[in-house]
Amino acid sequence: MRSIVRTLAVLALAGAATAPAAAQTAPADLVFVNAKVYTADATRPRAEAVAVRDGRIVFVGSSREGELFVGDRTRRIDLEGQTLLPGLIDSHGHVTNLGNALLNVDLVGTRSFESIIERVAARAAETPSGQWVQGRGWDQNEWSVPEFPHHEALSAAVPDHPVYLTRVDGHAAIVNRAALEAAGIDRETPDPAGGRIIRDEDGEATGVLIDNAMGLVRRVIPDVSREQIRQSIQAAQTALNRYGLTSIGDAGVGVETIEVFEEMAEAGELTIRNNVMISGGGDLFSYLERGPRFDIGGEGKLSVAAIKVWIDGALGSRGAALLEDYSDEPGNSGLLLVTPERLREIADAAARTGFQLNTHAIGDRGNRIVLDVFEAALAETPVPDHRWRIEHAQILHRFDIPRLAELGVIPSMQTIHQASDMAWVPARIGFRRLYGTYAWRALLDTGVIIAGGSDFPVESPDPLLSFHAAVTRQNADGWPTGGWFPEQRMTREEALLHLTAWGAYAARVEDEVGSITAGKWGDLVVLSHDIMTVPDDQILDAKVQMTVVGGEIVYTESMGAGGGR
Ligand SMILES: [Zn+2]
Repeated sequence: MRSIVRTLAVLALAGAATAPAAAQTAPADLVFVNAKVYTADATRPRAEAVAVRDGRIVFVGSSREGELFVGDRTRRIDLEGQTLLPGLIDSHGHVTNLGNALLNVDLVGTRSFESIIERVAARAAETPSGQWVQGRGWDQNEWSVPEFPHHEALSAAVPDHPVYLTRVDGHAAIVNRAALEAAGIDRETPDPAGGRIIRDEDGEATGVLIDNAMGLVRRVIPDVSREQIRQSIQAAQTALNRYGLTSIGDAGVGVETIEVFEEMAEAGELTIRNNVMISGGGDLFSYLERGPRFDIGGEGKLSVAAIKVWIDGALGSRGAALLEDYSDEPGNSGLLLVTPERLREIADAAARTGFQLNTHAIGDRGNRIVLDVFEAALAETPVPDHRWRIEHAQILHRFDIPRLAELGVIPSMQTIHQASDMAWVPARIGFRRLYGTYAWRALLDTGVIIAGGSDFPVESPDPLLSFHAAVTRQNADGWPTGGWFPEQRMTREEALLHLTAWGAYAARVEDEVGSITAGKWGDLVVLSHDIMTVPDDQILDAKVQMTVVGGEIVYTESMGAGGGR
């Protein structure tokens, strides 16, 4: 009797796990066996084998059953105990910015203004004079003198090329004299709304431009060609695949770049799935009338179904809008990049047309305004299952933390920002406000999910750095011991979900990707180490061995280093 019960139990389990009936075991294209599979699917969290046919997962289960899908032309991969995860999702990054960072002067990790000038001068020497030299990635908080520079030394070293150097967070730029002249910026030029021209004691522009003031120069930089956009996308997606990423959310894209993505999707040239957020430009409202679009090109590679708006700036350049002044700059409480009224107009249009509304908010004032506007707009035009998001949700007043769950708003957060910023954030905002800062646990405990991401190229796209920060609240060197406000850590399971299933849900594509589940696209990543069980200080030893998108192997370790960690 007892053995019959056990047999029935086993059959029931097998049935629940998409047991291969004879007709379903037609050979697959790709079969992984002997893997430690973490599916991110609660109905079957663990497995040993996965089979993919025609781009989609057809089997998840034991290695013994997985072998049944191996035919003459099947690529069978014995993982010998290595870890297999769903393809990783970065819910918030900037594809062409990453591509341009790869193609332009890379300033990430520079430790002084002098070293920046050196790199820019070297690029200028090989660039026809008069042409723009652009770079990205500086961060004055990392310099020996952690202050905004003056353009004099840069202008002296590079007199004949206009120079535009974007800060690592994209919220400030350093330009030289030629660029200031090209833009017509002089001592009479007023600060634009939502922007600041930093000036010296004599009232002259220092060459540092904050938030909307960057537009004064950016508008005189010649538009890049479609071919350059395509090259930039290609450079970025190759890099992203190396990190095990199979889907991303592109956080603020103009119409022309969207058109290039569409051409590439139709031509089958995309190796990463992109959930595009349109940036709110002038013709936004007419664009919204087309309605949200999913699965452009038919391979599930491209959706254009969300809007990106920036309510405030960033913390590093003191542009994030705070309820009270910056602790290290009395009189400054940050910048609003759009008015609450404008955000409300966009919210009403989003509610009416079915677009998701993803709003950048970093400061506690920025976050409160967004929640207020979302609440009012959704009260007037209720949208069931709207999944509107706050991008970053970095500093929340404690009264606002439960409001996201109440309103059904999804926080889209970058755990790596905590690891990068923790050393200087207390000086910016003081200790009292740290309670609601990078408050993952406090948010999760209210019942929300968190969509994870890196904000690349603000940070490295490496999702393992985000995973490590999420579970340790430490930087990659393991500092500080025990973690920074460790009570806000995620569990390993939550950290996996925030880079997989929760990211899919937050992009409204959870039926297609986000877990290893029969019927979804065959998006998978093989890791050298089991990040779900190794000690904290070994998580970053893991290397991406292989990345699979829709059953196609887009990266293997033999193709080159997985990204410089
Ligand atoms: Zn961003």
